[in-house]
Amino acid sequence: MTARRPIAALQRVAVAAAALACGLAIASCAPSTTQASPPSSASTVSSSPAPSGPPVTVPGLSSDAASSPPESSIVPPSPEPTPEPTPEESTPEPPPAPEPAELPQIDDPADDFVQTEEPAAPAPAPAQLTGGKVVVIDPGHNGGNAANPGIINKLVDAGFGETKACNTTGTSTNDGYPEHDFTWAVANDLKPLLEAQGVTVIMTRDSDDGVGPCVNERAAIGNNANADAVVSIHGDGVQSDASTGFYVMTAVRQPAGAAMSAQSDALARSMRDGLVSAGLSTSNYLGSDGLWDRDDLGGLNLSTRPTVMIESGNMRASSDAALMSSSAGQQKFAQGYANGILAYLASR
Ligand code: ZN
Repeated sequence: MTARRPIAALQRVAVAAAALACGLAIASCAPSTTQASPPSSASTVSSSPAPSGPPVTVPGLSSDAASSPPESSIVPPSPEPTPEPTPEESTPEPPPAPEPAELPQIDDPADDFVQTEEPAAPAPAPAQLTGGKVVVIDPGHNGGNAANPGIINKLVDAGFGETKACNTTGTSTNDGYPEHDFTWAVANDLKPLLEAQGVTVIMTRDSDDGVGPCVNERAAIGNNANADAVVSIHGDGVQSDASTGFYVMTAVRQPAGAAMSAQSDALARSMRDGLVSAGLSTSNYLGSDGLWDRDDLGGLNLSTRPTVMIESGNMRASSDAALMSSSAGQQKFAQGYANGILAYLASR
């Protein structure tokens, strides 16, 4: 077990803040509730109240995206044998339960995010990538979510008998640059990096102006594709300029058993190392060494494939925000994601 950081108090506040900022449906964004919390916590932190009424039909959207897998997933990949897991390292202790609290305003000017100007590290050589690997990239949220609360607040299966909101709006920088835009940009920078190495890439959404898909539908895309890796891209929204860096989340509840969970943990470590190799820093406020096992994320709890969800940085911290909202920064994240995915695939 890894000792908790001495900033546990800040972490608890950050958890509460992030839960409020990010919403929980997809289980993505932010640190949210513990499994003991009632499902109603999802709606209480939604950024928009959910008006009742008929679902809204949005021009250009995508009910297609929400109800069916993207075009590229039409041809299912051939299943591959599941390798035996390697002995697992000790996992970090679950974080303390977030406290229901008002949004804190932490005004610490400290800024220890190391933002290098060096070019991103090149992707590792794809020596073993000859087996038709399939990777599902899940860009969190969607551009049309905010205008369609009736759709995204609908409760859906979140695994283990629980329900959560279909999806959430996600967070944004203090300047208003939205998380869905960031995740979409990184996903589209990442896709060609993987395809150049022979990887078949499936995206869980095909535009940034649609609604959803719901968290359970996103998980199903990875499961149905029998994906070798499923990587969900997010950005955190903790109202603290001092809280920076990325963390990689996995499901502590092992929805597909211990062997698959071990593969997810291996993927998580590879993603952490890949992002670090691209010049990015691990979180200084949540998780341990850039890793965090969670029990409350529907996207992870519904997945039967090696899956991680990554809060790429804190969009409410100025240094991370600058990086996450710039094209150069997004390319750096994409390279880090590619480094991690390719290294993981090569190790299988
Ligand atoms: Zn998110």
